[in-house]
Amino acid sequence: MEELTGAQLIAESLKTQACYAASAVGYLTGRPGACLVVSGPGLIHALGGMANANMNCWPVIVIGGSSDRNQETAGAFQEFPQVEACRLFSKFSVRPSSLEVIPSVVEKAVRASMYGRPGACYIDIAGDMVNAKVDRSQIRVVSCCPDPPVSLADHGAVAEAVSVLKTAKRPLVIIGKGAAYSRAETALREFVETSGLPFLPTPMGKGVLPDDHPHCVAAARSRALLQADVILLLGARLNWILHFGLPPRFDPNVKIIQVDLCAEEMGNNVRPAVALLGDINAVVTQLLQGICKDGWKYGSGTEWWSLLRNKIAANAKISKTLALQSTVPMNYYTVFHHVSQLLPHDCIIISEGANTMDIGRTMLNNYLPRHRLDAGTFGTMGVGLGFAIAAATLERSNGEKGRRIVCVEGDSAFGFSGMEVETMCRYNLPVVIIVVNNNGIYSGVDPETWREMAKMGDLTSIAPPVTLLPEARYDEVMAAFGGKGYLVRTVEELRSALELSLTDWQRPSLLNVLIDPSSDRKQQEFPWLTRSNL
Ligand code: ADP
Ligand code: MG
Repeated sequence: MEELTGAQLIAESLKTQACYAASAVGYLTGRPGACLVVSGPGLIHALGGMANANMNCWPVIVIGGSSDRNQETAGAFQEFPQVEACRLFSKFSVRPSSLEVIPSVVEKAVRASMYGRPGACYIDIAGDMVNAKVDRSQIRVVSCCPDPPVSLADHGAVAEAVSVLKTAKRPLVIIGKGAAYSRAETALREFVETSGLPFLPTPMGKGVLPDDHPHCVAAARSRALLQADVILLLGARLNWILHFGLPPRFDPNVKIIQVDLCAEEMGNNVRPAVALLGDINAVVTQLLQGICKDGWKYGSGTEWWSLLRNKIAANAKISKTLALQSTVPMNYYTVFHHVSQLLPHDCIIISEGANTMDIGRTMLNNYLPRHRLDAGTFGTMGVGLGFAIAAATLERSNGEKGRRIVCVEGDSAFGFSGMEVETMCRYNLPVVIIVVNNNGIYSGVDPETWREMAKMGDLTSIAPPVTLLPEARYDEVMAAFGGKGYLVRTVEELRSALELSLTDWQRPSLLNVLIDPSSDRKQQEFPWLTRSNL
């Protein structure tokens, strides 16, 4: 397995999170991580990770043990049609027919996972192959797969895009996680600063350029999307995350300049005014040259800029008012306000949950590219701790302490993969987990109401399905395995627990932050801005 010697192997010692972890390695490094699983149920546990990686366009290799070649339909132990099962969840799914072909199959899987639109690949290894032997001279040596070749956009299309941009009255650049994956940060910063254009990151596009960059209009997101007349779309699909690019969230006449390396993506939901097929990093450099030619710059004193700036200021004021409320239990905004003050600039933030992820995204800044991982395109809850373990393992392999890995979890989201605290404790991975605990999904009830409901009869029929056990002691789960657990109710407790955990490099910590179970997102301006991901 020459091809995989440089890859990170993440085996099932990580329980059902292995594949999520391996896919995060792919996103963070640009080379696929590999996930080893046992047959049948082992592989089935990895399907979620493969689906998630494929939807996110992240490279990952899954290698599954499988039934012996002469027992394929015999009812063998954990027998399952694994290659067929993986086809829906991958770009490439294959069972090598002999030992001799394994190196070239692995090379093809690694190549397919990275080239074109990245995604998941599956290799099925029959049980009887594991201890079988082959004469070395029979094996064709395959060298390690180089990084993908870089493609540039058509020159004519670039010129057209530049002229469309220059005529825009209300331009907007949208930075997606494709831009993060393509490592376009340096070219993009130069492009944004030279062109003077406002930009808006998608959830995982956050940090490609810092959230506190003067051109970032994230705090005026709805307004920017609704009124932009020209949008330069860099590595983001016009799917649900961007409201399909359609009214009522977008101007029906908006001109989209779409940049993507996947030709089939062009025109999904909205026909682009200009389609630039190529690697984002390279295409942004091409656009920069086009823009620079005659020294054009979008003015900072335009009506559009002042509209956006006013909206940003108004929104910041509302969030600040909520953040500074001194009630106990705290609300989301208060928690995130203090957390954001204490987190180091270079920390990797992993986040999942409903309100926790949505509100956290607006309050927790990212300053560096690929420093935010979340539920992603597939909206997968349960990825958080696996992602954190992958990031912490990479940090450890890179050097002494590395960057801080901070997992901001809703209580429900934490429940999907909470037992991975054992893995963190087993390897002393100093991850800081913050469980923003509202006793439920979107909302819960307080302990008093819970007790009242219990008096009324059978809780299984009375308690709303979105409620979870009030004030569950997630901190004690962490402590049970040897990590540090903190129960937090007040701002003072929050700040002191977070400060302590950020100085502890010996073990993981978990802050169980009990908040008001009816705390919600701030009032939204538009009626369609009700729930999630907006
Ligand atoms: P987001 O979640 O940020 O909206 P998406 O996952 O929807 O982003 O979109 C990412 C897009 O980026 C995909 O369409 C993918 O094909 C594209 N992409 C990934 N890597 C590159 C690259 N190096 N160059 C150009 N496009 C890329
Ligand atoms: Mg919750």
